[in-house]
Amino acid sequence: MVNSAGVEFQGIYFDGRSSLAQEVVCTLDHEQVAIRNLSGAILLQVALARCSLTPPLGSSRRFLKFPGGERLQVEEATVTFLDEHLRSHPGLQFVHLVESHWRLVAASMAGLILCVWAFMAFAIPQLAEKVALATPPGLMNSISDDAMEFLDRRFFAASELAPGRQGEVQNLFRALCGDFAPAQGCTLVFRKGGAVGANAFALPSGLVVITDELVEFALSNEEVEGVLAHELAHVKARHGLRRVIQQAGVFMLISTLLGDVASLTSLGSTLPMMLVESGYSRQFEREADEHACGYFLVRGRSLEPFKEVLQRLTRDHHLPALASFLASHPDPVKRLNSIEEFERSYRRQQGGELEDGI
Ligand SMILES: [Zn+2]
Repeated sequence: MVNSAGVEFQGIYFDGRSSLAQEVVCTLDHEQVAIRNLSGAILLQVALARCSLTPPLGSSRRFLKFPGGERLQVEEATVTFLDEHLRSHPGLQFVHLVESHWRLVAASMAGLILCVWAFMAFAIPQLAEKVALATPPGLMNSISDDAMEFLDRRFFAASELAPGRQGEVQNLFRALCGDFAPAQGCTLVFRKGGAVGANAFALPSGLVVITDELVEFALSNEEVEGVLAHELAHVKARHGLRRVIQQAGVFMLISTLLGDVASLTSLGSTLPMMLVESGYSRQFEREADEHACGYFLVRGRSLEPFKEVLQRLTRDHHLPALASFLASHPDPVKRLNSIEEFERSYRRQQGGELEDGI
């Protein structure tokens, strides 16, 4: 029976000292709870404020818990009344609400997935950029040295390029390096690419590697410059380090969500391998191309040698498929299209400025 004064009902009572269950009559009003046995003798009388209701989880039975450890199984009809008066476990009431509303659950899951995706797509890259810019040179050097050691062991041999030609390319590189002026400095080394073929890449420390095959493949010093400018743009923007930090960030997020602390502790030693295996994103490649193109355009130089060497490298399949780090360059057609688009927009801008000047 439920009325405005309170409720009275029969229920099952556990005294908290034994597992014995007994039928009782319970009277509830707004202030008091009284438990009587079927003969009418009072077994327990306590202020309602000192009682609590077990949390609503699924369809499990609910109990009114008393301060002395006694419990009373509560009928469904009285649960609403008790919930209103006890306001017990507001958090768990929410869980119950969610459990009983599957659409809300589905929407919550979708919201959670969206949040995790947004975090990985936007927050982690932004954080990675800040972390990369603040990374001390010592750490960049150590990651780069380890990565280079692996690449030397796995792919490269000592350069066989004639010292005179090496000197020429070093001079081109030094001039470019002075203009790009990456904070971490820059060094050029030569390697025989072997199976890797004609290629060049940069490590976060500012170490740029060019293979003998690429120097020989280039038809002019301008083509070599184009390739080196692209690599220096990666160094300047710390693309390699940002990519590694992004991947490590996603890895840390997933490990944290899964509670996998052991994987987190091994992260430090896997950074160089991440660097070798991760490659650059399409966005970083476009940025590096545009930075290199901007470099030549502001000096009034043609982009043709850069475009030409890229075209021939991809057409002749000189880009290797052995390590993704070395083979990360995107679809060559799209790449050349976006270089041309960048050039057109640069020239439009220049034209606009000239007209403004007139
Ligand atoms: Zn690149």
